[in-house]
Amino acid sequence: MSAVIEEATRIARQFEYSPEEVQRGVKEYIREVEEGLSEEGTTLSQIPTFVTSVPNGTEKGLYLAVDLGGTNFRVCSIDLHGNHTFSLTQSKIMIPREMMTSGSAKELFLFLARQIESFLRIHHNEHFEAHLKRKIAGTAREEDLFDLGFTFSFPVRQLGINKGTLIRWTKGFDIPDAVGQDVCALLQEAIDELNLPVRVAALVNDTVGTLMARSYTSPGETGTFLGAIFGTGTNGAYVEKLNKITKMAKIEHSDYDKSTGEMIINAEWGSFDNHLSVLPTTEYDRQLDADSNNPGIQMFEKRVSGMFLGEILRLVLLDLHKSQGLFKPASGSDVFIPESSSLYRQWGIDTSLLSIVEADKSKDLEQVKSALKDHLKVERASENDCKAVQTVVHAIGKRAARLAAVPIAATLISTGKLKEELVDIGVDGSLVEFYPNFEGYLREAMREVPEVGEAGDKKVRIGISKDGSGVGAALIALVASKEGAKPQL
Ligand code: ADP
Ligand code: MG
Repeated sequence: MSAVIEEATRIARQFEYSPEEVQRGVKEYIREVEEGLSEEGTTLSQIPTFVTSVPNGTEKGLYLAVDLGGTNFRVCSIDLHGNHTFSLTQSKIMIPREMMTSGSAKELFLFLARQIESFLRIHHNEHFEAHLKRKIAGTAREEDLFDLGFTFSFPVRQLGINKGTLIRWTKGFDIPDAVGQDVCALLQEAIDELNLPVRVAALVNDTVGTLMARSYTSPGETGTFLGAIFGTGTNGAYVEKLNKITKMAKIEHSDYDKSTGEMIINAEWGSFDNHLSVLPTTEYDRQLDADSNNPGIQMFEKRVSGMFLGEILRLVLLDLHKSQGLFKPASGSDVFIPESSSLYRQWGIDTSLLSIVEADKSKDLEQVKSALKDHLKVERASENDCKAVQTVVHAIGKRAARLAAVPIAATLISTGKLKEELVDIGVDGSLVEFYPNFEGYLREAMREVPEVGEAGDKKVRIGISKDGSGVGAALIALVASKEGAKPQL
């Protein structure tokens, strides 16, 4: 075996995550769930969302939704047909990197409102113009406003269905003056400044949106139990019994519907085990964390989600490059890779590279080779180099998918949900959608947890919840407008 493959194999072993570790992870997760439901300021935030029912597919109407994800800003309008189906019109733009880290909250939210404005101009211009005319004539009517669901995928202290303050930024955002502010009010102010016919009706975490959207679209009568995201970040939301959310008594909040006896909880599981009592840690995880802008937090997310897997891979490849001559010809002189390669730049590798590498089942690894050229400007990577890359990619991706099983298995266990015949789960995010066999590895790890096992796994139905944040947000805006939650305009 070549030295580079041998070393890659040795590194890959450091990413193995054994069944025993999965079980220990589940145990610790359940402990953190209980803690999070009873107290505030815990590792697992377990945030009450004030959404107390899930849709059944018969909901109807036209709604707006916006989604500030982490990589993109999406604006859409959703027409719910009331028969599990919907039509959706959307626009999507990349958030400029400068906007994430410099400037003020006001600048960011005005930027977002301007995107809503141009969306309305393109797709709902008649409605927009009519509203402007009435506004000038002083005859604007409340019922002409679009109800908008605002998907905001960062940790928020939610105080009501359309009220919540930002706890901290994640995923590379850092705009200090937004922290502690009500993000719905910030968006509404920006919208009003531009005179848009829009009311921010609901604050939606993308995970909750994913759960709601899946519940609307999923076949049959069974409401969805859990929504999970594996995209730029990772997080999950699930349906909890109100009487188990004992910290509700201590939380300042506006009124909500208690009749269902349930509420969706946003777990914020990206920060599971920040104290690293059970999470696996390699030297690459340590380095990634140390060089990140939020060391010591979102430790689960840093091992699982799209924003970080590419960087873990980069650190491993850089190590192999230095120690074993990866991407160097045998003589060691004439390097195959230019200095401008993103191998040398922090965050230089996109996680989509892992999916391409993992997917290549051919013997000569031609796709790996061309992906290395496209992504890293590596000319003529040798077959051994390609094999070494694939070995570490596989290890990093598989560990992420097995780790993803921990919060899901733990939530199924802590809620006693596996007593039921069918448990529906909605998932969203490029990683779970595109990384080959992500769900397969996840399920394999789940079956290794005795309380789930083969029998439990069979009851679990997992479906991609496409457009989760759009449709889900619309559904929550619908619930909110029905409940009569009116924002201050
Ligand atoms: P968001 O998190 O903004 O809602 P996505 O769900 O599309 O958006 O996730 C984007 C993340 O997924 C990025 O970190 C990106 O690197 C990663 N990603 C994009 N394409 C793929 C792919 N084909 N396979 C794996 N990861 C991907
Ligand atoms: Mg998303």
